[in-house]
Amino acid sequence: MINQRLFDHYGIDTAKDLGIVKRCPRPRDTILIDKQGSCYACECTSWLPQSIGNLQIKSLEEIIGSDMHQHLQSSIADGTYRYCNEHQCSYIKSGAVLHGQPERIQHLRLAIDDSCNLRCPSCRKSMIFHKEGSAYNLGIRLADKVNDWLHNYQHPIQVHIGSDGDPFASHVYRHFMEQTPERNNIKYSILTNALMFKEFHTNVPFVINNLQELGVSIDGATKETYEKLRLGGRWEKINENLECIAKLRQKHNFRFILHFVVQQDNYHEMEDIILLGKKYNADRVWLNKIEDWNVSPNFGEQDIFSSAHPLHNDYRRKLKEIDHYLGFEKNPVVEIPTLNI
Ligand code: SF4
Ligand code: SF4
Repeated sequence: MINQRLFDHYGIDTAKDLGIVKRCPRPRDTILIDKQGSCYACECTSWLPQSIGNLQIKSLEEIIGSDMHQHLQSSIADGTYRYCNEHQCSYIKSGAVLHGQPERIQHLRLAIDDSCNLRCPSCRKSMIFHKEGSAYNLGIRLADKVNDWLHNYQHPIQVHIGSDGDPFASHVYRHFMEQTPERNNIKYSILTNALMFKEFHTNVPFVINNLQELGVSIDGATKETYEKLRLGGRWEKINENLECIAKLRQKHNFRFILHFVVQQDNYHEMEDIILLGKKYNADRVWLNKIEDWNVSPNFGEQDIFSSAHPLHNDYRRKLKEIDHYLGFEKNPVVEIPTLNI
Protein backbone atom coordinates (compact mmCIF):
# COMPACT_ATOMS: atom_id res chain seq x y z
CA MET A 1 0.00 0.00 0.00
CA ILE A 2 2.44 2.62 1.24
CA ASN A 3 5.40 3.22 -1.07
CA GLN A 4 8.13 2.66 1.52
CA ARG A 5 10.97 3.47 -0.92
CA LEU A 6 9.59 6.97 -1.29
CA PHE A 7 9.59 7.52 2.47
CA ASP A 8 13.11 6.08 2.73
CA HIS A 9 14.21 8.51 0.01
CA TYR A 10 13.03 11.46 2.14
CA GLY A 11 14.38 9.93 5.35
CA ILE A 12 10.87 9.66 6.83
CA ASP A 13 10.53 7.08 9.60
CA THR A 14 7.00 5.69 9.08
CA ALA A 15 7.08 3.93 12.49
CA LYS A 16 7.48 7.20 14.41
CA ASP A 17 4.99 8.79 16.78
CA LEU A 18 5.35 12.57 16.96
CA GLY A 19 2.56 12.70 19.55
CA ILE A 20 1.16 15.97 18.17
CA VAL A 21 -2.06 17.00 19.90
CA LYS A 22 -3.27 19.33 17.13
CA ARG A 23 -4.95 17.83 14.05
CA CYS A 24 -3.45 19.23 10.85
CA PRO A 25 -6.34 19.97 8.46
CA ARG A 26 -4.36 19.50 5.24
CA PRO A 27 -5.06 15.80 4.55
CA ARG A 28 -8.78 16.62 4.81
CA ASP A 29 -8.96 19.99 3.08
CA THR A 30 -6.21 19.94 0.42
CA ILE A 31 -5.50 18.10 -2.82
CA LEU A 32 -2.32 18.80 -4.76
CA ILE A 33 -2.06 17.52 -8.34
CA ASP A 34 1.36 17.18 -9.99
CA LYS A 35 2.27 17.20 -13.68
CA GLN A 36 1.98 13.39 -13.91
CA GLY A 37 -1.56 13.55 -12.50
CA SER A 38 -0.55 12.13 -9.10
CA CYS A 39 -2.66 13.55 -6.27
CA TYR A 40 -1.39 14.30 -2.75
CA ALA A 41 -3.18 15.18 0.49
CA CYS A 42 -0.86 17.99 1.55
CA GLU A 43 0.43 21.33 0.27
CA CYS A 44 3.80 19.94 -0.77
CA THR A 45 4.70 16.59 -2.35
CA SER A 46 7.87 16.22 -0.30
CA TRP A 47 6.07 16.85 3.01
CA LEU A 48 3.63 13.95 2.64
CA PRO A 49 5.03 12.08 -0.37
CA GLN A 50 2.49 9.26 -0.70
CA SER A 51 0.18 9.70 -3.71
CA ILE A 52 -3.50 9.02 -3.02
CA GLY A 53 -4.34 8.27 -6.69
CA ASN A 54 -3.63 9.34 -10.26
CA LEU A 55 -5.90 11.61 -12.24
CA GLN A 56 -4.84 9.98 -15.51
CA ILE A 57 -6.64 6.79 -14.53
CA LYS A 58 -9.19 7.90 -11.93
CA SER A 59 -11.52 10.83 -11.42
CA LEU A 60 -11.11 13.28 -8.54
CA GLU A 61 -14.39 11.93 -7.11
CA GLU A 62 -12.78 8.47 -6.86
CA ILE A 63 -9.49 9.75 -5.46
CA ILE A 64 -10.98 11.96 -2.74
CA GLY A 65 -11.96 9.70 0.17
CA SER A 66 -10.14 6.67 -1.33
CA ASP A 67 -8.68 4.07 1.06
CA MET A 68 -5.23 5.63 0.79
CA HIS A 69 -6.64 9.09 1.43
CA GLN A 70 -8.39 7.86 4.57
CA HIS A 71 -5.28 5.99 5.68
CA LEU A 72 -3.18 9.17 5.55
CA GLN A 73 -5.92 11.09 7.37
CA SER A 74 -5.87 8.48 10.16
CA SER A 75 -2.12 9.09 10.70
CA ILE A 76 -3.01 12.67 11.66
CA ALA A 77 -6.10 11.76 13.69
CA ASP A 78 -4.05 9.39 15.92
CA GLY A 79 -1.41 12.10 16.50
CA THR A 80 1.52 10.01 15.20
CA TYR A 81 1.97 12.03 11.97
CA ARG A 82 3.99 9.01 10.91
CA TYR A 83 3.91 9.72 7.19
CA CYS A 84 4.73 13.43 7.54
CA ASN A 85 8.21 14.71 6.71
CA GLU A 86 9.20 16.42 9.94
CA HIS A 87 12.50 17.49 8.35
CA GLN A 88 10.72 19.61 5.74
CA CYS A 89 7.14 20.48 6.77
CA SER A 90 7.44 24.09 7.91
CA TYR A 91 4.45 23.75 10.28
CA ILE A 92 6.10 20.89 12.18
CA LYS A 93 9.54 22.49 12.04
CA SER A 94 8.28 25.78 13.49
CA GLY A 95 6.09 24.01 16.10
CA ALA A 96 3.01 25.70 14.64
CA VAL A 97 0.93 22.80 13.30
CA LEU A 98 -2.53 24.01 12.32
CA HIS A 99 -5.65 22.58 13.92
CA GLY A 100 -8.98 21.70 12.34
CA GLN A 101 -10.78 18.80 10.71
CA PRO A 102 -12.85 20.23 7.83
CA GLU A 103 -15.39 17.94 6.24
CA ARG A 104 -14.42 18.51 2.66
CA ILE A 105 -11.78 19.74 0.24
CA GLN A 106 -11.27 23.52 0.37
CA HIS A 107 -7.95 23.89 -1.45
CA LEU A 108 -6.94 22.55 -4.83
CA ARG A 109 -3.25 23.06 -5.63
CA LEU A 110 -2.31 22.71 -9.28
CA ALA A 111 1.28 21.82 -10.16
CA ILE A 112 0.43 20.43 -13.60
CA ASP A 113 2.84 22.42 -15.77
CA ASP A 114 6.37 23.63 -15.07
CA SER A 115 6.55 25.90 -18.14
CA CYS A 116 7.98 29.31 -17.40
CA ASN A 117 9.24 32.30 -19.38
CA LEU A 118 12.25 32.58 -17.03
CA ARG A 119 15.09 30.27 -16.04
CA CYS A 120 16.05 31.35 -12.53
CA PRO A 121 19.25 29.64 -11.37
CA SER A 122 17.61 28.63 -8.06
CA CYS A 123 14.84 26.75 -9.91
CA ARG A 124 16.07 25.21 -13.17
CA LYS A 125 19.16 24.66 -15.25
CA SER A 126 17.59 25.62 -18.59
CA MET A 127 14.35 26.93 -20.05
CA ILE A 128 11.30 24.65 -19.67
CA PHE A 129 8.35 25.48 -21.91
CA HIS A 130 5.69 23.08 -23.23
CA LYS A 131 3.68 24.41 -26.15
CA GLU A 132 3.10 21.04 -27.82
CA GLY A 133 4.05 17.40 -27.32
CA SER A 134 3.28 14.84 -24.64
CA ALA A 135 3.85 17.03 -21.53
CA TYR A 136 1.62 19.75 -23.01
CA ASN A 137 -1.10 17.28 -24.04
CA LEU A 138 -1.12 15.64 -20.61
CA GLY A 139 -1.27 19.05 -18.92
CA ILE A 140 -4.31 20.01 -20.99
CA ARG A 141 -6.05 16.69 -20.18
CA LEU A 142 -5.41 17.21 -16.46
CA ALA A 143 -6.63 20.82 -16.66
CA ASP A 144 -9.85 19.66 -18.35
CA LYS A 145 -10.44 16.95 -15.73
CA VAL A 146 -9.99 19.47 -12.92
CA ASN A 147 -12.41 21.88 -14.60
CA ASP A 148 -14.96 19.07 -15.05
CA TRP A 149 -14.76 18.37 -11.32
CA LEU A 150 -15.02 22.08 -10.46
CA HIS A 151 -18.17 22.33 -12.61
CA ASN A 152 -19.94 19.99 -10.19
CA TYR A 153 -18.37 21.12 -6.92
CA GLN A 154 -20.87 23.21 -4.98
CA HIS A 155 -18.81 24.11 -1.90
CA PRO A 156 -16.37 26.97 -1.33
CA ILE A 157 -12.97 26.12 -2.77
CA GLN A 158 -9.75 27.96 -3.46
CA VAL A 159 -7.68 26.97 -6.50
CA HIS A 160 -3.95 27.70 -6.13
CA ILE A 161 -1.97 28.04 -9.35
CA GLY A 162 1.74 28.55 -9.84
CA SER A 163 3.94 26.56 -7.49
CA ASP A 164 5.83 24.92 -10.37
CA GLY A 165 5.74 27.19 -13.45
CA ASP A 166 4.30 30.58 -14.36
CA PRO A 167 0.47 30.73 -14.67
CA PHE A 168 0.47 33.58 -17.20
CA ALA A 169 3.25 32.16 -19.38
CA SER A 170 2.16 28.49 -19.31
CA HIS A 171 -0.19 27.50 -22.12
CA VAL A 172 -1.64 24.76 -19.90
CA TYR A 173 -2.54 27.17 -17.08
CA ARG A 174 -3.82 29.73 -19.57
CA HIS A 175 -6.12 27.04 -20.99
CA PHE A 176 -7.22 26.10 -17.47
CA MET A 177 -8.02 29.72 -16.54
CA GLU A 178 -9.83 30.39 -19.83
CA GLN A 179 -12.04 27.30 -19.36
CA THR A 180 -12.60 27.41 -15.60
CA PRO A 181 -16.29 27.57 -14.64
CA GLU A 182 -17.71 30.98 -13.79
CA ARG A 183 -18.99 30.30 -10.31
CA ASN A 184 -18.84 32.33 -7.12
CA ASN A 185 -17.87 29.40 -4.87
CA ILE A 186 -14.51 29.16 -6.67
CA LYS A 187 -11.76 31.57 -5.64
CA TYR A 188 -8.20 31.73 -6.94
CA SER A 189 -4.77 32.26 -5.54
CA ILE A 190 -1.93 32.79 -8.00
CA LEU A 191 1.84 32.84 -7.64
CA THR A 192 3.58 34.41 -10.63
CA ASN A 193 6.76 36.14 -11.73
CA ALA A 194 4.25 38.76 -13.01
CA LEU A 195 6.12 39.58 -16.20
CA MET A 196 3.14 38.58 -18.36
CA PHE A 197 0.39 39.72 -15.98
CA LYS A 198 -0.39 43.04 -17.65
CA GLU A 199 -0.53 41.44 -21.08
CA PHE A 200 -2.64 38.40 -20.18
CA HIS A 201 -4.94 39.19 -17.21
CA THR A 202 -7.62 40.75 -19.43
CA ASN A 203 -8.12 37.31 -21.10
CA VAL A 204 -9.31 35.80 -17.80
CA PRO A 205 -11.61 38.40 -16.23
CA PHE A 206 -13.51 35.80 -14.24
CA VAL A 207 -10.33 34.61 -12.50
CA ILE A 208 -9.29 38.20 -11.76
CA ASN A 209 -12.76 39.03 -10.40
CA ASN A 210 -12.49 36.06 -8.03
CA LEU A 211 -8.84 36.45 -7.17
CA GLN A 212 -8.17 36.20 -3.44
CA GLU A 213 -4.42 36.38 -3.46
CA LEU A 214 -1.76 37.34 -5.97
CA GLY A 215 1.81 36.50 -5.01
CA VAL A 216 4.69 37.87 -7.04
CA SER A 217 8.06 36.16 -6.75
CA ILE A 218 10.74 38.80 -7.09
CA ASP A 219 14.15 38.02 -5.66
CA GLY A 220 15.81 41.34 -6.35
CA ALA A 221 15.02 44.95 -5.44
CA THR A 222 17.46 46.55 -7.88
CA LYS A 223 17.91 46.12 -11.62
CA GLU A 224 21.26 44.38 -11.22
CA THR A 225 20.16 41.79 -8.66
CA TYR A 226 16.72 41.22 -10.19
CA GLU A 227 18.09 40.53 -13.67
CA LYS A 228 20.75 38.21 -12.25
CA LEU A 229 18.38 36.11 -10.13
CA ARG A 230 15.26 36.21 -12.37
CA LEU A 231 17.16 35.17 -15.46
CA GLY A 232 15.37 36.41 -18.60
CA GLY A 233 13.38 39.10 -16.71
CA ARG A 234 13.74 42.84 -17.18
CA TRP A 235 13.60 45.30 -14.27
CA GLU A 236 11.63 47.92 -16.25
CA LYS A 237 9.03 45.31 -17.24
CA ILE A 238 8.50 43.95 -13.73
CA ASN A 239 7.96 47.51 -12.47
CA GLU A 240 5.38 48.15 -15.21
CA ASN A 241 3.56 44.99 -14.15
CA LEU A 242 3.74 45.81 -10.43
CA GLU A 243 2.16 49.16 -11.18
CA CYS A 244 -0.64 47.44 -13.11
CA ILE A 245 -1.18 45.00 -10.20
CA ALA A 246 -1.25 47.84 -7.66
CA LYS A 247 -4.06 49.54 -9.64
CA LEU A 248 -6.07 46.34 -10.04
CA ARG A 249 -5.69 45.51 -6.36
CA GLN A 250 -7.56 48.68 -5.46
CA LYS A 251 -10.42 47.66 -7.74
CA HIS A 252 -10.62 43.92 -6.95
CA ASN A 253 -9.38 43.93 -3.37
CA PHE A 254 -7.19 40.82 -3.57
CA ARG A 255 -4.24 40.29 -1.23
CA PHE A 256 -1.05 41.32 -2.98
CA ILE A 257 2.14 39.71 -1.68
CA LEU A 258 5.76 40.05 -2.72
CA HIS A 259 7.86 36.90 -2.21
CA PHE A 260 11.61 37.33 -1.78
CA VAL A 261 13.86 34.27 -1.38
CA VAL A 262 16.80 35.45 0.71
CA GLN A 263 20.25 34.27 -0.42
CA GLN A 264 23.83 35.52 -0.68
CA ASP A 265 23.15 37.55 -3.83
CA ASN A 266 20.25 39.56 -2.38
CA TYR A 267 20.33 39.60 1.45
CA HIS A 268 21.66 43.16 1.30
CA GLU A 269 18.37 44.20 -0.39
CA MET A 270 15.95 42.98 2.29
CA GLU A 271 15.08 46.54 3.28
CA ASP A 272 14.84 47.66 -0.37
CA ILE A 273 12.27 44.97 -1.17
CA ILE A 274 10.17 46.08 1.81
CA LEU A 275 10.28 49.66 0.49
CA LEU A 276 9.36 48.40 -2.99
CA GLY A 277 6.39 46.57 -1.47
CA LYS A 278 5.28 49.78 0.22
CA LYS A 279 5.70 51.72 -3.03
CA TYR A 280 3.32 49.37 -4.85
CA ASN A 281 0.94 49.00 -1.91
CA ALA A 282 1.60 45.30 -1.31
CA ASP A 283 -0.25 43.82 1.65
CA ARG A 284 2.79 41.83 2.70
CA VAL A 285 6.41 41.19 1.83
CA TRP A 286 7.39 37.60 2.60
CA LEU A 287 11.06 36.91 3.17
CA ASN A 288 11.92 33.21 3.04
CA LYS A 289 15.21 31.43 3.20
CA ILE A 290 16.60 29.72 0.13
CA GLU A 291 15.99 25.94 0.02
CA ASP A 292 18.13 23.33 -1.70
CA TRP A 293 16.05 21.89 -4.59
CA ASN A 294 19.08 20.01 -5.94
CA VAL A 295 19.19 22.32 -8.96
CA SER A 296 22.01 24.69 -8.18
CA PRO A 297 25.51 23.16 -8.00
CA ASN A 298 26.60 26.11 -5.81
CA PHE A 299 23.77 26.07 -3.24
CA GLY A 300 26.38 26.29 -0.42
CA GLU A 301 27.57 29.65 -1.82
CA GLN A 302 24.06 31.08 -1.62
CA ASP A 303 23.20 29.55 1.77
CA ILE A 304 23.77 32.61 3.87
CA PHE A 305 21.89 30.89 6.74
CA SER A 306 24.70 28.45 7.39
CA SER A 307 26.88 29.66 10.26
CA ALA A 308 29.84 28.44 8.18
CA HIS A 309 29.05 30.97 5.41
CA PRO A 310 31.61 33.85 5.46
CA LEU A 311 28.80 36.45 5.25
CA HIS A 312 26.49 34.82 7.82
CA ASN A 313 27.21 37.43 10.52
CA ASP A 314 26.66 40.26 8.07
CA TYR A 315 23.29 38.67 7.15
CA ARG A 316 22.35 38.54 10.88
CA ARG A 317 23.24 42.22 11.15
CA LYS A 318 21.04 43.09 8.14
CA LEU A 319 18.20 41.05 9.63
CA LYS A 320 18.40 43.17 12.79
CA GLU A 321 18.20 46.30 10.66
CA ILE A 322 14.74 45.35 9.36
CA ASP A 323 13.49 44.44 12.82
CA HIS A 324 11.32 47.56 13.07
CA TYR A 325 9.24 46.42 10.05
CA LEU A 326 8.23 43.25 11.91
CA GLY A 327 5.87 42.81 14.77
CA PHE A 328 2.91 45.02 13.84
CA GLU A 329 0.63 42.32 15.09
CA LYS A 330 -2.55 43.52 13.47
CA ASN A 331 -1.08 44.66 10.21
CA PRO A 332 2.51 43.56 9.68
CA VAL A 333 4.29 44.71 6.53
CA VAL A 334 6.74 41.85 6.56
CA GLU A 335 6.63 38.18 7.44
CA ILE A 336 9.74 36.02 7.85
CA PRO A 337 8.27 32.56 8.51
CA THR A 338 11.43 30.57 7.81
CA LEU A 339 14.33 32.98 8.38
CA ASN A 340 14.67 32.04 12.03
CA ILE A 341 14.03 28.29 11.72
S1 SF4 B 1 1.71 18.25 9.31
FE1 SF4 B 1 2.77 19.07 7.54
S2 SF4 B 1 3.33 17.31 6.31
FE2 SF4 B 1 1.77 16.63 7.75
S3 SF4 B 1 -0.14 16.84 6.63
FE3 SF4 B 1 0.15 18.73 7.79
S4 SF4 B 1 1.17 20.14 6.40
FE4 SF4 B 1 1.36 18.05 5.53
S1 SF4 C 1 9.93 32.48 -12.23
FE1 SF4 C 1 9.51 30.89 -10.72
S2 SF4 C 1 8.91 29.09 -11.91
FE2 SF4 C 1 9.91 30.51 -13.32
S3 SF4 C 1 12.03 29.84 -13.37
FE3 SF4 C 1 11.88 31.47 -11.84
S4 SF4 C 1 11.54 30.42 -9.89
FE4 SF4 C 1 11.13 28.94 -11.54
